[in-house]
Amino acid sequence: MEIKKERLLERFLRYVSFDSMSDGSAVGKRRPTTKCQEDLLLHLSSELKEMGLETSIGDDWVLVVRLDGNEEYGGIAFMAHVDVAEDVMGNGVKAVVHEMYDGSDIALGNVVIGRNELEGHDGDAIVTSDGTTLLGADDKAGVAVLVESAEILSKRDKSSHPTIYYIFTPDEETGSGTSLFPSNILSSVSVLYTFDGGEKGVVELECFNAAKVTVEISGVATHLGSARGKMKSALLSASKIVSVLPGSESPEATDGYYGYYAPLSLSGSVDDAKLEIYLRDFDKENLCYRVNAVESVAKAIAMLDGTNASVSIEYSYSNMKSVNEKDENVVKSLESAAKGIGIDLVYSPIRGGTDGAAIAEKYGVPSPNVFTGGHNYHSLSEWASLSEMCSSLAFLLALVSFWSGKR
Ligand SMILES: [Zn+2]
Repeated sequence: MEIKKERLLERFLRYVSFDSMSDGSAVGKRRPTTKCQEDLLLHLSSELKEMGLETSIGDDWVLVVRLDGNEEYGGIAFMAHVDVAEDVMGNGVKAVVHEMYDGSDIALGNVVIGRNELEGHDGDAIVTSDGTTLLGADDKAGVAVLVESAEILSKRDKSSHPTIYYIFTPDEETGSGTSLFPSNILSSVSVLYTFDGGEKGVVELECFNAAKVTVEISGVATHLGSARGKMKSALLSASKIVSVLPGSESPEATDGYYGYYAPLSLSGSVDDAKLEIYLRDFDKENLCYRVNAVESVAKAIAMLDGTNASVSIEYSYSNMKSVNEKDENVVKSLESAAKGIGIDLVYSPIRGGTDGAAIAEKYGVPSPNVFTGGHNYHSLSEWASLSEMCSSLAFLLALVSFWSGKR
């Protein structure tokens, strides 16, 4: 078998040892938002160059790697992000490898990963942090799988596979990963797979449609002692709007394909108040319905209260489903790869957006998201399974075979 487990593990451990937390507060001020991401991108570039691949890092700090292939087969692309989230500490990662996992709870200081969660992994190598940081499998498991596949494919005859682009982006976690994307590559690829998923077998073809509604309310302030009949509280109107949003359609009450209303921030005074609400739905029409409902409610409450509400709507990203399904070969490639390596595919909707979704929407290129073997992202109990990472690598190689005319 071409897949070298130990080498993939070493690679993964090497990448998680790099600091690469992104910084949401620096978006628009600095690219990448943190200097440490540059170090990892430069390191990856030199590893890939040593394999004989053509690499380039533009002003945008997106690392693009090209592996020449058979022109008849066209081009395909794989993408992963080098940054890690800032929800919990993500720098100074000290990875722990639990070789030959024995079926018990894994305790990392105060953090415990329960055995139920690790069911089916007996004998596997489980990688965690030491419990004081996240691990960074999101998305360094994806990065390791991509680079390891490059090492394998670079040794094959180039006539045996399509031209392959590997794209490594900074700042995915800040939502700005594709803001300066080198879109010229996309005209020569049929599909761009993001390797930024989780559990073995799970692939994601669709995501939310997302909108942000901002309600700005102006009121009338007076001396509180003589307020009767004169004072109109913007803060009161804003809080009433929040209170009528259906609790059964909140993020904490929904999962799967259910959409929601999520009031995210409220600030203000009697004079004026500002309210931000995130709306999510897999169905575009339903999202528009939600937007209209919030707008109508805000206006009605302001009218009753004698305040004034102005509503602005920002559409953030769209469900990538229609783009992913426009070329039937994209779904076929996933099914053929799963069959080829003997695993079951699980289609799961992403309750959020991804860089892939942004690319599908902006450039019309199908961008399904593929599992990498990581779990519990953005938390101290994040872990990765070496056997699932190997499956992810095997899956990638099977996708390459599919696009090599072996359909
Ligand atoms: Zn990710």
